[in-house]
Amino acid sequence: MPDAPVRVLLVEDDDDDYLLARDLFAELPPGAYHLDRVATYESALQALDECDHDLYLVDYRLGGRTGVELLAEMHRRDCTAPMIILTGQREREVDLLAMRAGAVDFLIKSGLDANTMERSMRYALAQKRLEDDIRQSNLLLEERVRRRTAELASVNEALRGEVAERNRIEEKLRLADRRKDEFLATLAHELRNPLAALSAATELITAEPTNAQQVEQLIQIMSRQLEQLARLIDDLVDASRINSGKLQLRLAPVCLAEVLQMAVDASRPAMESAQHTLASLLPSERLMVLGDQMRLTQIVSNLLINAAKYTPRGGRIELSLMSANGAAVITVRDNGIGIPAAMQTRIFELFAQVDASTTRSRGGLGIGLTIVRTLVELHGGSIHCASEGPGQGSEFTVRLSLLQTPAEPAAAAPETVKHPLPSLRVLIVDDNESAAHLMGRLMQQLGQDVRLARTAFAGLELVTKFAPELIISDVGMPGMSGYEFARALRSRDLPWRPYLVAITGYGQESDRQEALAAGFDRHLTKPVGVDTLEELLRARGGRPSG
Ligand code: ADP
Repeated sequence: MPDAPVRVLLVEDDDDDYLLARDLFAELPPGAYHLDRVATYESALQALDECDHDLYLVDYRLGGRTGVELLAEMHRRDCTAPMIILTGQREREVDLLAMRAGAVDFLIKSGLDANTMERSMRYALAQKRLEDDIRQSNLLLEERVRRRTAELASVNEALRGEVAERNRIEEKLRLADRRKDEFLATLAHELRNPLAALSAATELITAEPTNAQQVEQLIQIMSRQLEQLARLIDDLVDASRINSGKLQLRLAPVCLAEVLQMAVDASRPAMESAQHTLASLLPSERLMVLGDQMRLTQIVSNLLINAAKYTPRGGRIELSLMSANGAAVITVRDNGIGIPAAMQTRIFELFAQVDASTTRSRGGLGIGLTIVRTLVELHGGSIHCASEGPGQGSEFTVRLSLLQTPAEPAAAAPETVKHPLPSLRVLIVDDNESAAHLMGRLMQQLGQDVRLARTAFAGLELVTKFAPELIISDVGMPGMSGYEFARALRSRDLPWRPYLVAITGYGQESDRQEALAAGFDRHLTKPVGVDTLEELLRARGGRPSG
């Protein structure tokens, strides 16, 4: 398709000059150019408004106006088509003026030939195309720069966010690390106290084993210290279960009055040793919740023991239970040291203590209330702490949903008839001599025939010679572990099947599973009390031994 003709507007007020120009255009290649003409400055202005010509040929003299003025008007109207100024012979000095104003070229009318005119027009059009291209590229470039700047800004923003997040995480890690260090220091301190008491008592008993009265007192002290150690370890295990989300409840309808009674029993030693008065207020109605009786007791006894601990000697502690709006409300109030307002929510956080100094007079790891709150929340309840401040006592309120239909009084559990203990051959395998010895003594006191083995190898030998019906074995032992011992034992073709019990310090479900897989029948966590041993003997005694 041939190119469309170049549309040229001639602004010329002199008719003769117009005719001359028209003749020159007639010499140009046919169809290449289309010429229009306007004769006055004003009609030229109108044409510029439309700006629909490709090129303007403008006479310098237009009545009282000039082509340079028209050029200025053209720019004002954003008409970007090229303009060539035509001058007379005597007006050569205006060329500089015209070029400065933005004309692409100027031509002297007299003696102008078609070739020169066309070359000038072609040059002007090429120049215009070049300028358009450059303008276009500039626009593209600007757009790319704008986009890239926006991208960089958003990357920067994201980076700033990441840095801030990283700083937050680092701060949290630093805090967690500091808390862990503080916790380890507290733990060491808390473990050392009962251990120091135990070791002093042991020395005193060794020095004067025949002083029966002193021995009895010391044994009482030792058993209290042991209970404290066991409580610490229970709390640690609970805290770790909470952390790993493994704390589970055994739900059943529970009578809250019974829970409170058990909690009062559990806190009695703490109340008595600090000579506190404990007053309880229970409703006449039977309030039932769906819960884990042991854990509910733990919640209330923990609050009671804290009240006893944080109240100066001879204080008054009140425990109450009532129902309000379908909820059971348990309150433990003391007239003790109180809690500053700023700490009243924080004390439920792990390791948080109002007085965390190592010189504080009351022991504790700062995990009790975290466990309490988690247990309350696992029961779907809430816990709240209130205190008027230091020295003003504290009040802890637990709310639990009541069971809708009051449960029938639980069918009286069949009285557990305690049968006399069976007498068994018991083998104890433990590399810890004292632990083995102690358990051996306990078993003997329970009327059992006992043998001890310090290693799994010795244990295996005794299995053949002694034919034990019950074997209690440690798990972590040098040489051959308890698991290997169990596997070796089970692989033997014995004419009877000994009941095999693992005793370990590791109470996780995975440890229990591993013990059962190795061939153990039961998995118990240290320390094992007399009650558990009796229960074990009864369970074993009721089984056929073959
Ligand atoms: P611990 O008693 O082992 O420090 P807890 O988690 O049971 O840990 O309690 C956290 C903190 O809350 C305690 O260290 C103590 O500062 C504060 N606290 C708890 N109960 C009471 C109370 N009844 N009166 C005053 N302060 C209390």
